[in-house]
Amino acid sequence: MSTTSKPLGKPLLVQKFGGTSLADLKGFDASAKVIAQYVDDYRVIVVLSAVKGVTDLLLAAIDTSVAGQDGGEHLEEAIRRERAIVSDLASGGFETPQATSYLDEQEAVLSRMVEGIRLLGQCPDETRARILATGEGFASRLMVDVLQARGYDALWSDTDVLPPANEDWLDSLVDVEAAAPLVKARLGERDSQVVVLPGFYGRNADNKIQLMGRNGTDYTAACMAAASGAGLCQIWKDVDGFFTADPRIVTNARCLDEVSYEEAMELTYYGANVISAKALMPLAAKDIPCQVRNTYDPSKPGTLVHGKATRAETVRGISHLHGVSTITLQGGFLRGRVGTAQRVMGALAKVSVSTLLIVHSSSEYSLSFCVRQADEEKAVRALREEFHFELLHGLLEDINVLSDRAVVSLVGEGMKHARGIAARFLTAISTAGVNVEVIAQGSTEFSISVVVRGEDARPAARSCHTAFFGRSTHIDVILLGCGNVGGELLDQFQRQEEALAAHHMDLRVRAIASSGKLLVADDMIDLSDWRGAMERDGKPWTLDDLLAIRMRLGLLSPTIVDCTTDAGIAHAYVRFLDAGFNIVAANKKANTSGFDYYRALREAEKRNFRKFLYETNVAAGLPFIDTLQSLIRSGDELVTFEGILSGSLSMIFGLLQDGIPLSQAVAKAMELGYTEPDPRDDLSGMDVARKLLIIAREVGLRLELDDIAVEPVVPIGAVEHVERSELIDALAAQDAAFAERCAAAAAEGKVLRYVARLEDGQCRVSIEAVDRAGPLGAIRDGENALVIHSRYYQPIPMVLRGYGAGASVTAAGVFGDLLKTVWRPLDN
Ligand code: ADP
Ligand code: ASP
Ligand code: MG
Repeated sequence: MSTTSKPLGKPLLVQKFGGTSLADLKGFDASAKVIAQYVDDYRVIVVLSAVKGVTDLLLAAIDTSVAGQDGGEHLEEAIRRERAIVSDLASGGFETPQATSYLDEQEAVLSRMVEGIRLLGQCPDETRARILATGEGFASRLMVDVLQARGYDALWSDTDVLPPANEDWLDSLVDVEAAAPLVKARLGERDSQVVVLPGFYGRNADNKIQLMGRNGTDYTAACMAAASGAGLCQIWKDVDGFFTADPRIVTNARCLDEVSYEEAMELTYYGANVISAKALMPLAAKDIPCQVRNTYDPSKPGTLVHGKATRAETVRGISHLHGVSTITLQGGFLRGRVGTAQRVMGALAKVSVSTLLIVHSSSEYSLSFCVRQADEEKAVRALREEFHFELLHGLLEDINVLSDRAVVSLVGEGMKHARGIAARFLTAISTAGVNVEVIAQGSTEFSISVVVRGEDARPAARSCHTAFFGRSTHIDVILLGCGNVGGELLDQFQRQEEALAAHHMDLRVRAIASSGKLLVADDMIDLSDWRGAMERDGKPWTLDDLLAIRMRLGLLSPTIVDCTTDAGIAHAYVRFLDAGFNIVAANKKANTSGFDYYRALREAEKRNFRKFLYETNVAAGLPFIDTLQSLIRSGDELVTFEGILSGSLSMIFGLLQDGIPLSQAVAKAMELGYTEPDPRDDLSGMDVARKLLIIAREVGLRLELDDIAVEPVVPIGAVEHVERSELIDALAAQDAAFAERCAAAAAEGKVLRYVARLEDGQCRVSIEAVDRAGPLGAIRDGENALVIHSRYYQPIPMVLRGYGAGASVTAAGVFGDLLKTVWRPLDN
C-alpha cells in the first residue's frame, strides 16, 4: 500500500469502472478499494465512465436546447449530482482539488454553450462531443483525488493517446497501432502506481474531442489494453458478471463463468448491457482476456470473456433489445431482382443508419429489416428517395414501418451442433402468448433472433429463460371454489408436494377464491392454513381482480382451476384465455352453454396458445374425454356411444334391481350422499343430458342442449310442485309402476338403467331395459360406465368404468388436467 513502490516492471492491468460503479461516494469508494487491491501486483490503468446518469442529462440539455427550450435545468442537475459527491467527500475531510477546479471551470463554459445552442437551434457534432465528454472529464479527476487522498500514487492522463481512426465526431474508432507508442510514452511519463484516464473520447490531431459512441468507455478501456500490451482487462459493474439474461428482468438468471468473444458480441449486440460490442473487437484481435466483475462484491470471480471459452452445450444466454423498428419493403418488383438488398443497405449507409437484422422472404416478395427506432425516420426518408421511381409506379407497395419493437435473441456457439433449438425457442415464446413478427438466424448459428412487440420482450425473454435454463417447471394455480372438490384438491396438492418437487415441478397456489372472498399471495399460499388465511386476509372480489392477477404477479402461464358451478365464471373463460390463463374446469357450464360460445372458447385457446381442459366434466376422473379425443385424432370414428353417466342414478337403478321400491331407493341414495341436495336435479335427467351434450360436441356434432331428447326418471309433473320434505312420499305414487317395469325387464333377462345414448347423430337420455350380461347391465352402486362402439372397437366395444363422482376422484381428475397444462422444458 505504500506510495513509494516502483511501478515499473509490473504487468499491466486495465480496469474500467462504469456509471453504475460511480453513482455516488459509496461507488467511488468501492471502486477505489478495488483499484487498491491490484496496485501491489500490477501497474494499473484505470478508465472511467461519467457519474451515473450524467451523460444522459448532458444529452438532454443539448437536445432540449436544440428544440429551442431551456436546457439549463438538465445541465444544472448533472452538475448538482457531481457536486453532491464532492461535498460528501468534503464533509469527510477529504479535499478534491482537481475535480473541483475542473468543475468550476467547466460549469460556466457549459452553460454558455448550452445557451448558445438554444439561440442557434442547433448543435454541431463537434460541440456535442465537447459537452458530453465533460462527464468523463470530471469522474476521472475525482477518482485521482480520491486515490491520492487515500495515499495512493495516482496521476491523471487525458485520452489524447488514443487517436481517432476516422472523422466521426460521435462514434469514432481508434487507430490502435498509432496509439501503441503514444500510450507507452504516456505511461513512461506518468511514473505512478495508477494512471487514471477518462473514457468515452479521444482527441484528434487538432486536439479536438471525438466520442467513441454511447457506452464508449468500454471501448476506451479495450483500446488502452490493446495499445499498452496489457495482459488483462477488467470491466467493473454493479452486477456479478455476464448473466444468462438481464437479471433485472429474469430474476433467476445465472451468472456465467465464461463466454467467448463471439458469444459476448452477439449477446451485447442484441441488448445485454454488459460490455459494448465495439469493445470486444480490440480485445479479441489481441486475444486479451476480459473479466466482468462486481465493484460492490469483488470477492466474486465474475465472468471471463476470452478466446478459449469451453463451448456451451447449447445456449449461453438470452438478450433483448428495445427501441427497434421493423421496416418492410414489399412488392412484386423485388422478385428475382438482383441488388435490391444492396440498394437498401447503400441508402441506409449514406445516412449512417445500420441495420440490426435483415430478412428476405423466400418468395422474394418482401424484405424486412430492423433499425434502432431513433434512426427510423432517417431510414424511411432515405429509402423513399432511393426507391422513388418504384414507389411512384407501384412496383413497390408502400414502405411499411412497425415501431416499438424489440429483438429477443438466443446466443451460444453450441447451437451449431444441437438440433431443435429454434423449435424450443419459438415454443417458449408462444407459451408466453407472444406473437413473433420476424425470425432471423445467422449462418454462423451463434444466435437466433426474433422481433416482437416491445411490450412482449420481457415475457418472451422470461419464458425462453425458463425453457433453456429453468431447472423446474412452474405451475401457478388460481383456484376458484374451495368447497368439496376444491378443498380436496388443495389437500392433494399438499400430499403430492414432495413427489412434484422430485420431478422439478414447482406448483404454487397463488390465489384462492370462494364466492365471497379472494386471497392472493405474492409468492404462494401456505396450504397448511389456507382456511385461516382466507378468513383473515380474503377480500371481496370481482372478475377484473381475477383477470389482473397474471400481470400483477408477473406469471407466465398460470391456470384458473374452476371448481365452482358458477355460470358467470364459465362465461368469462374466453376473457381468461385472452388474458393469458389456462383453464382447468370441473364446472360444466361453459361446455354446455350455446354452441357459439363453445366454439369461441376453442378459438381463444388456439389464439392464445393456452389450454382449456375439462376431463372431469364427464365421469369425473375417468379419462374419457382424453381417450375419446385421442381416438378421433388418430382416425377412429364413433358409431354409438352408450353410458351410465350419473352416480346417483346408477345407485338408484341398482337398488330397483334388488326389488327396492323407487321411493325407498331414492331415500337410500340421498342418505348415502349420492344425490344432489334436491334429488330432483338427478331425477330430471338434465345432468346426464349435459354430459351427453359434451360428448356429442366432442365428436363434432353441433348440438344445443335442446337437441337432446330427455326422458326424466319420473314425469316432471308428478314431483314438480312438491315440497322437498314430501318428495319421497310423492315418489311412492310411482313405486308400483316401476316395480312392474322392473319385473317385465327381468322376465327378458334385462335390467333397467338410466342410459345416455348417441346413435346416428341423435342423442337421447332415458330409462332403458338393457341386457343383464351387457356392458351396462353390471353397472350399479354409483359406478359409471362409458361404452364406445367405433370403427375400430367392434364388435366388442371399448368400456371405461369406475366412480364418476365424488370429491377425491374429481379432484384427482382436475389435478391430472393441471399437470397437462405445463409444457415441460427439456433439460439444458
Ligand atoms: P455500467 O455503465 O456501469 O457499465 P450499465 O448500466 O451500462 O452499467 O449496465 C449494467 C446493467 O446491465 C446491469 O445492472 C444489468 O441489469 C444489465 N444487464 C443486461 N443484460 C445483462 C446480462 N446478460 N448480464 C448482466 N447484466 C445485464
Ligand atoms: N458516459 C458514456 C455513456 O453513458 C460512456 C460510458 O458510460 O461508457 O454513454
Ligand atoms: Mg454505462
